[in-house]
Amino acid sequence: MTAVSRPTPRPSPETSHFWEACQEGRFLLPKCADCGSHWFPPSGFCPECWSRNWEWEHASGLGLLHTFVIFRRQYHPAFEPPYAVGVVHLKEGPRMLSRIVTEDIDKLRVGMALKLTWDRSGDWMIPAFQVL
Ligand SMILES: [Zn+2]
Repeated sequence: MTAVSRPTPRPSPETSHFWEACQEGRFLLPKCADCGSHWFPPSGFCPECWSRNWEWEHASGLGLLHTFVIFRRQYHPAFEPPYAVGVVHLKEGPRMLSRIVTEDIDKLRVGMALKLTWDRSGDWMIPAFQVL
């Protein structure tokens, strides 16, 4: 039986720097130099004030579980159920879709404190979140 590979990121011009940093274990978010907003996914301008005056900033890697779903059926051969996918409300403000890593998937609750971890997929380091 042949192992099936997980899907991997397809960086765009807007996201390539984010993914390059992930490969070095750095979690970055764009931050507007005019209004101070952070956002995700990366884009060429601030979605709050439309400024193109922004830079990358190291993010805390902390957040709260905004909502989640537990997959108990296998929808992709590379993802063995059960597993959880959630929307993480990052401390800096943006929300990010992510795999949620936990020892006891049935104890996940909305509002739980989470911290960044890394999910290795082939040669990629993918941001994921684990329960604090
Ligand atoms: Zn802005």
